[in-house]
Amino acid sequence: MSETLNTQLLIVGGGPGGYIAAIRAAQLGVKTTLIEGDRLGGTCLNIGCIPSKALIHAAEEFEKARQHAEDGALGIRVQSPSIDIEQTVRWKDGIVGKLTGGVAALLKKNGVQVIKGWARILDGKTVEVQHEGGDPQRVHCEHLLLATGSRSVDLPFMPLGGNVVSATEALSPKTLPKRLVVVGGGYIGLELGTAYRKLGVEVAVVEAQERVLPSYDAELSAPVAANLRRLGVELYLRHSVLGLNDAGDGVRVRDPDGKETTLAADRVLVAVGRRPRTEGFNLEALMLDKAGHALKVDDQCRTSMRDVWAIGDLAGEPMLAHRAMAQGEMVAEIVAGKKRHFQPAAIPAVCFTDPEVVVVGLDPAQAQERGIDCKVASFPFSANGRAMTLDANEGFVRVVARSDDHRILGWQAVGKGVSELSIAFVHSLEMGARLEDIAGTIHPHPTLGEAVQEAAMRALGHALHV
Ligand code: FAD
Ligand code: NAD
Repeated sequence: MSETLNTQLLIVGGGPGGYIAAIRAAQLGVKTTLIEGDRLGGTCLNIGCIPSKALIHAAEEFEKARQHAEDGALGIRVQSPSIDIEQTVRWKDGIVGKLTGGVAALLKKNGVQVIKGWARILDGKTVEVQHEGGDPQRVHCEHLLLATGSRSVDLPFMPLGGNVVSATEALSPKTLPKRLVVVGGGYIGLELGTAYRKLGVEVAVVEAQERVLPSYDAELSAPVAANLRRLGVELYLRHSVLGLNDAGDGVRVRDPDGKETTLAADRVLVAVGRRPRTEGFNLEALMLDKAGHALKVDDQCRTSMRDVWAIGDLAGEPMLAHRAMAQGEMVAEIVAGKKRHFQPAAIPAVCFTDPEVVVVGLDPAQAQERGIDCKVASFPFSANGRAMTLDANEGFVRVVARSDDHRILGWQAVGKGVSELSIAFVHSLEMGARLEDIAGTIHPHPTLGEAVQEAAMRALGHALHV
């Protein structure tokens, strides 16, 4: 055993929650140590947000090329495009490499001590790090920040291995399957299912609920489902998965009437949710309070043990990178002596399907549940000039505002490229904007953002383009 290291803030996990906390704490002069067992950047940079968006982009470009080859409406002439998936994966890996290298450089520049190895909790102030082939290293701290993230949920009757893969393997395919069955029509299933379809793979999605993206309201998920069908993705809704068939080349499913069928598949992507990573590093020794599978935290991300903190996916829903980062930054500032609480007006959620979906703040049903008298108005992209020039006139922007003082409570949007509108939405909520503020702001023309202004105008009873 080597000598015990002493630090002020010890962070376990170098994903977006952990590395942001480390950078901010070090900026504020806190002696900070970060332990990462795998690769800096965590799920998000290595096997999540970034590689999935890279693959989605490549698939969209390929799909466009194929469309131009089939239909010359835009006057673009392309002949028989093909995809070299190994090169696509290399390109994606290059982006990941640049970003994770950037994280390492930022940690170094700010003076964070990074230890590579798997941490094992000894007590609320001591952790042991297991280096590959080396002696264990003990680290003693004043504050312990847990940021170990999450792992994918497995189906016990269809374990990962062989042709049954998780998002991680689906993001680095060596070859493309002929037919992919996706189990789970949520974020991962639909983002990656759509990408695979656009790469030319036959795709079927099996979803237990009655619609895809069941966590969003039906008006938002309907255009996504319609486009999946248009792309040729088969949707098996309200179906339960029973397992692989004996030959291993099909997925047995049961329909809502109890009838069993087998869906042919030479690859199966299981995407049925993620669970906080609480096991395998002796966390149980701390006997921290839990909230379901997650660690229970207060509005400063304090756990039930003094000076032990938890952020990101480990602290439960919503399991989103930007939430992990915001919590990490906050904890770093509290440890450095600042007064902070985690009370965002809203945490935006974006699903990078085709069309994209954005949800920020309250939707009409949630406002109604809270007994708030609301104005709700939508503006369709079919009436937006920019959307037409992008050949993307499906979808809409919807605003929810209080009837009494017109304060905006929420935005929802579905359409091509609406992920970028999420910033305008969340700004308006954080700044306590009213419908009049958005309606009275000059929005540049022609942009998709004009639909945001028009939705606010419509809620006030004077939309100009519908
Ligand atoms: P993680 O990023 O999971 O990082 C935890 C780190 O801790 C890991 O690097 C792990 O190796 C390390 N670790 C764990 N245990 C130990 C230990 N004992 N010792 C040392 N190190 C340890 N979110 C979005 O906001 N937008 C998206 O577009 C998006 N797309 C996604 C796509 C996919 C396919 C997936 C799987 C997820 C996606 N997410 C997305 C979710 C996002 O990746 C997570 O919310 C985010 O990574 C959580 O950050 P974190 O810091 O809490 O944990
Ligand atoms: P998810 O919760 O988004 O979707 C899982 C889906 O699987 C649900 O629709 C559920 O009804 C369905 N399901 C569950 N068990 C099933 C079964 N046995 N058979 C058929 N369907 C079943 O989970 P995910 O897609 O695995 O993603 C995990 C998390 O990762 C997300 O919740 C999100 O926090 C994060 N993520 C975010 C983004 C983004 O922000 N764009 C992208 C990917 C992942």
